[in-house]
Amino acid sequence: MATTTIVTGSIEGLLQEERRYPPPPAFAAAANVRDPEVYERARRDPEGFWAEAARELTWERPWDRVMDWTPPTVKWFVGGQINASVNCVDRHAHGERRTKPAIVWEGEPGDERVLTYEELHREVNRAALMLKALGVQKGDRVTIYLPMVPELPIAMLACARIGAPHTVVFGGFAPEALAGRINDSGAKVLITADGGYRRGQIVPLKQNADRALAAAPGVEHVVVVERVGAAAGIAMEPGRDRWWHEAMAAVGDGGCPPEPVDAEHPLYILYTSGTTGKPKGLLHTTGGYLLGTSLTAKWVFDLKEDDIYWCTADIGWVTGHSYIVYGPLANGATAVMFEGTPDYPDKDRFWDIVERRRVTVFYTAPTAIRGFMGWGAEHPAKHDLSSLRLLGTVGEPINPEAWVWYHEHIGGGRCPIVDTWWQTETGMIMISPLPGMTVTKPGSATVPFPGVEPDVVDGQGNSVPLGQGGNLVLRRPWPAMARTIWGDPDRYAAQYFGSYGPAVYVTGDGARRDEEGYFWLMGRVDDVLNVAGHRLGTMELESALVSHPAVAEAAVIGIGHELKGQGIAAFARLRVGAEATDALAEELRRHVAEKIGPIARPDRVYFVAELPKTRSAKIMRRLLRDIAEGRVVGDTTTLTDPGVLAEIKASYGGAEAVE
Ligand code: ATP
Ligand code: MG
Repeated sequence: MATTTIVTGSIEGLLQEERRYPPPPAFAAAANVRDPEVYERARRDPEGFWAEAARELTWERPWDRVMDWTPPTVKWFVGGQINASVNCVDRHAHGERRTKPAIVWEGEPGDERVLTYEELHREVNRAALMLKALGVQKGDRVTIYLPMVPELPIAMLACARIGAPHTVVFGGFAPEALAGRINDSGAKVLITADGGYRRGQIVPLKQNADRALAAAPGVEHVVVVERVGAAAGIAMEPGRDRWWHEAMAAVGDGGCPPEPVDAEHPLYILYTSGTTGKPKGLLHTTGGYLLGTSLTAKWVFDLKEDDIYWCTADIGWVTGHSYIVYGPLANGATAVMFEGTPDYPDKDRFWDIVERRRVTVFYTAPTAIRGFMGWGAEHPAKHDLSSLRLLGTVGEPINPEAWVWYHEHIGGGRCPIVDTWWQTETGMIMISPLPGMTVTKPGSATVPFPGVEPDVVDGQGNSVPLGQGGNLVLRRPWPAMARTIWGDPDRYAAQYFGSYGPAVYVTGDGARRDEEGYFWLMGRVDDVLNVAGHRLGTMELESALVSHPAVAEAAVIGIGHELKGQGIAAFARLRVGAEATDALAEELRRHVAEKIGPIARPDRVYFVAELPKTRSAKIMRRLLRDIAEGRVVGDTTTLTDPGVLAEIKASYGGAEAVE
């Protein structure tokens, strides 16, 4: 369990960051939230704060009590009834937003589809009827294994409409991973596609699904979206399989009345990426989740009626659930959805989309930003990015260099950046600037969202003084928190509430709060190294490496060391033009020692072409550790490109620079 204490002692690292970015005055003047009173109000009366915001949603029946908290079990809006698809679609589809684009979709080959709220409403209704026709009832689980196509949010909202929890499985997962998730959730229906595009190649989703289904006998019906026209290449099993477009046409436009569900009714199950081990199915419920995602979307992304908002995440991850689908649509926003990758066909694909679609709010991951940095600023420079007014990041700590690069080369020096800390488990953004008010510091996720109460504690659960590191915990329930791990409530209780008493949620992340109360995320507690008694966050070390002009991306792990207890192994991916030489390895060691202190000098430096990442683009340090320690490589089902591992292993045994 996550009870390690991080005390970096004299190593100031990140806290030396002195740059400050106040909100630009014009941005601040027009921002959705401008009055710092919201923090005070939420502190005085958290439940009242959430209840007031919840009144903005459309309820079928009002709640009796705002919250019931019997740790670790929480219920929000007890007695209330609500429907997520009504809030995300119906209430916009009949009024002024009727003809407003809800989803602006662009496919990898360049095809497009724009769904207005009215059109989205029609599609969601049909899909809901189709599911009912297949016998799906309230409470039944539906697995969705699709590429990033409009049918994906349509299917999710259709499930929500009839009260059937969805479980979206990222389209890049292999059959075995899909089968595991289908079986764990007990789904009876699978929605998939004939294929998907990835860098010009076709991903054989239906074939993967067929293989998965051989090991997942509970599935009775499969609905297949035609995406790539691979009809000839796939087998449709009579009785079990049908085409999406045929089934949708068959049900007609009669409309499907929304099923009012209890606020605590399951909305979805989502399996986490598995950076730290066996995937777990986090269960999110309806009322509190909708409130948390819609309010944070409105305040953190400052969503306005005419914004074109683009979150580049895949809907297969929680970021896509909360901030492509539920949060933005509940606000009646226009969300861009993109099927492809940032470097196909060229390394300026994202910037081309921003320019053509006049994107105003852009939300992506630090790993992507470091990728853009490595490719060079000439790619964004080719495009007019002047429509952008706000930038965001999520998924990992962002190193100050990448933050500043993003600010300058993407944001043109004028866009505030919201570095948003949250987790699959939290459902919603928890620590983040409010862009009209918060003075940002590159590398810090800044301050808790109103009503959220994080703390940094030592191994016994006592708050540590400002300026010190420790375990990040959450001391108060929030509406969008996961309610359990599907089928395994004991694991949920033990993993998240086991360490410091039943009412304290343990995030598993290390953090430090500076003298002004700003939070600096230090990476996972498990990723903290203990070098000769000094505790070093991997984040701090990687940040130092990436601040060297030759390094595009870095991962650091602890390795056994006779004298120091733990030594430091650094894996670096170089920028275009930099050469992997022993001299550079030595220079990097010196560089880190200068930035952080002699204790932080890496023992080994490896140059790699790629770092092993999860499907949600996080570095899998545990695999690097496995390689470093010569253990069998663990569960790799969530690894993007297994070839990366082979290459790293080879580099480990071969052309390494060892001190
Ligand atoms: P698993 O829990 O299965 O190992 P995961 O933690 O990678 O997977 P997510 O829930 O997608 O899956 O990621 C949440 C984690 O990502 C956080 O706990 C934190 O470590 C990291 N993270 C997310 N946003 C930020 C951020 N803005 N700053 C620092 N770290 C972040
Ligand atoms: Mg996690």
